[in-house]
Amino acid sequence: MEQHFSKITEFRAELAAWFQDHGRLLPWRATRDPYRILVSELMLQQTQVATVIPYYHRWLKRFPTIHDLAKADESEVLHAWQGLGYYNRARNLHQCAKIIVSERNEKFPSRAEELLTLPGIGRYTAGAIASFAFDQPAPIVDANIERALSRILNLQEPVDQASGGRVLWDFAAGYVQSTHPRLLNSALMELGATICLPGKPLCLICPVRSFCATKDPESLPKRRERQPVEKKVENHYLALKEGRILLEQSRGRRWRGLWTLPVLAQNSESGARMEVNLPLLSLSFPITRYVVRLNIFFEEPPATLGCGQVWHGLELLDTVPMPSPHRRAVRRAMERIGSSAANG
Ligand code: SF4
Repeated sequence: MEQHFSKITEFRAELAAWFQDHGRLLPWRATRDPYRILVSELMLQQTQVATVIPYYHRWLKRFPTIHDLAKADESEVLHAWQGLGYYNRARNLHQCAKIIVSERNEKFPSRAEELLTLPGIGRYTAGAIASFAFDQPAPIVDANIERALSRILNLQEPVDQASGGRVLWDFAAGYVQSTHPRLLNSALMELGATICLPGKPLCLICPVRSFCATKDPESLPKRRERQPVEKKVENHYLALKEGRILLEQSRGRRWRGLWTLPVLAQNSESGARMEVNLPLLSLSFPITRYVVRLNIFFEEPPATLGCGQVWHGLELLDTVPMPSPHRRAVRRAMERIGSSAANG
């Protein structure tokens, strides 16, 4: 490892020169506005660049400044986030905007330590905002950098264990202690995203090949053994009345504030019905380490509404913030049962 630290100046120079010629022109790279960078970073957590780009543009049209976001309703924010999933990111973004506007007089924190005090901002995101918006020498290690550095350093420890992670963060911290931290962090990220790819990296065209210690890049990064994916079943129901659909505002952690099809409570009557009747439709979706099978049953409109339940006009459904699996389920169910049933 020592050998790599001793060549750090040359390593920075090679990587920065390559990035200036080959780096992608991503929309958030064309700005120093910390609000825009915050939006992009939260969207990019758990979502691919190509998916994020149209959302990023739409978001900034809807909430052009941090002030616009701070004064928006939560339901408007969740609606704008719809389709990106992991809605806590949207809530955290909204909370960050409120804190910066109301408690900091719209002054954005510029140092990673201050940024870390905001909701949803971890070590990586704090470093990304500090370096990309304020050119601070704050290290970043995301999945792309983790992969590239573990290969460059030939790191044999699991990167998701404290000691392995520390090696990468220490290297990233030394690497960025130089002029142009924004450029250096962007270059390292780009290397992982476009050259040092998962699976088979493009070593033949790698700008830092001469610094790379691994002889077996495909075996890196090493990780601890994964927990197996678990299966879950969630039963909900579809009830329609005079062109309206019954929805329930979720209070659970996963989708708090979003509208879902009502939960089919597991009592003896519904349990027996579920055993006898097939669901109107089923679909599966992944979430964290689960694969959820969502079963939708058709039910008569209930005589009284449960807690958080409201009838929504079908024609306005697109304006209601809903998690994607439930919106998909409603669309498919409506195709299946047709408009006459909906109006019945
Ligand atoms: S030489 Fe290959 S493994 Fe090493 S950093 Fe470059 S792309 Fe990654």
